[in-house]
Amino acid sequence: MGRFDSQTFNVGERLKPPATAGNRTQSGGVPRAVDVGIVGAGFIGLSIGWRLALAGLSVAVFDRGEAGAGSSLASTGMLAAAAEHESGGDDLLALARESQEQWPDFRSALETQSGMSIDYRSEGTLVVALARDEVERLRFRFDMQRRAGLDTQWLNGAEARALEPSLRGSVAAGVFCPGDHQVDPRLMSPALAQAFIAHGGRLFENTEVLSFERTAGRASGLVTASGACQAKTIIIATGVWAADTLAPLGLNIPVRPLKGQALALRANRQTGNLKRIVWTEQIHLAPKSDGRLIVGATVEDMGFNATITAGGALALLEGVHRALPSSEEMEIEAIWSGFRPTSDDDAPILGSVDIPGLLIATGHHRNGVLLAPATARAFEDLLLHGQMKGAANRFGLTRFNRIDAAQGGAR
Ligand SMILES: Cc1cc2nc3c(=O)[nH]c(=O)nc-3n(C[C@H](O)[C@H](O)[C@H](O)COP(=O)(O)OP(=O)(O)OC[C@H]3O[C@@H](n4cnc5c(N)ncnc54)[C@H](O)[C@@H]3O)c2cc1C
Repeated sequence: MGRFDSQTFNVGERLKPPATAGNRTQSGGVPRAVDVGIVGAGFIGLSIGWRLALAGLSVAVFDRGEAGAGSSLASTGMLAAAAEHESGGDDLLALARESQEQWPDFRSALETQSGMSIDYRSEGTLVVALARDEVERLRFRFDMQRRAGLDTQWLNGAEARALEPSLRGSVAAGVFCPGDHQVDPRLMSPALAQAFIAHGGRLFENTEVLSFERTAGRASGLVTASGACQAKTIIIATGVWAADTLAPLGLNIPVRPLKGQALALRANRQTGNLKRIVWTEQIHLAPKSDGRLIVGATVEDMGFNATITAGGALALLEGVHRALPSSEEMEIEAIWSGFRPTSDDDAPILGSVDIPGLLIATGHHRNGVLLAPATARAFEDLLLHGQMKGAANRFGLTRFNRIDAAQGGAR
């Protein structure tokens, strides 16, 4: 079911992970017992699994579809702590900055241990005002970034166009975010899966976790159609489906799907491509080293409806045309939709729930790629040293109880 929950219409299968991903089928069947059983092989489950396997724990990761084929493959791959910063998001910014700082080491370990590139690009992100009436709103965003201590630079129109000469001549101002880098999500899950397996991790794709075993009130095992697996710790990393996974255990978590439609254009010698990520008020554009330009993404609060719509395509094409005239001559290579796993406060939910032995890592909303290193580090700290450190501590499930209590109990 997982692989059909988001849609991908593509030409020549180019959006899927490359064929070099290799055969990840595990021999020997589901193990009888492991230290850690992880449900969900998106970027979050795989990142946690990899780091825990690297630390010497026996880890099995289960996914009902292909690894990475949920929200993770739908993402653009931006690591945009500065450009994403919203007012009131100071806790999230602290976690995002920690993760952004961890990304270079995470990347080099991942590429070395998997032997695969993830197309990490460090040219930064340029946020532009495409018309005079957008400048004031951009200035507001810039002032907020500066107050938060972010390293961003204000540019006039000519300076912004000097960074990206193919942008429309109407560009009136820009904010350059040098620390906001990117990776290619298509390359991430094969690399994570490979690095995980290389350290003894057991990955089971097309293996749905159907239910959980409990012993004396403690979560003690996972049940799949291929057999049960005892686990000292179980981590639920099922992203946007985490509420479904936890409902049979009587747990209610505030995570819902927030749909995004996106498309991939292919640049050619005539059109050229952008050098770095560009954001406008409508869209973001992320050039990949293989010549694609990802155009993302709509934000639609409409449940698990993965339909690709004319309105969504129009908004993306209009947005890219308004910013980048040369896009007219680019091939449309793929269009898809996916769901951001979004919590009630748009921030992740990390750590324990009411059931001993059970942990959750979900709700990464529009930042799951950015936050993968910090999330993995948090679970490494929790499992190996008994507690999370740094900003991750602020993202427990109990914060919603406090919000509920403050609002008189209703969610
Ligand atoms: C259009 C779009 C653009 C985005 N762009 C960015 C971006 O630029 N930067 C960024 O940081 N973030 C971005 N995001 C957000 C990011 O994609 C998510 O936050 C992230 O992928 C969440 O990862 P995950 O591992 O939690 O979830 P997923 O990748 O969805 O993984 C969960 C997995 O659980 C599996 N599963 C569910 N139920 C079961 C079960 N019972 N048994 C076994 N397996 C199960 C599913 O099959 C799935 O593979 C974007 C999201 C969208 C939709």
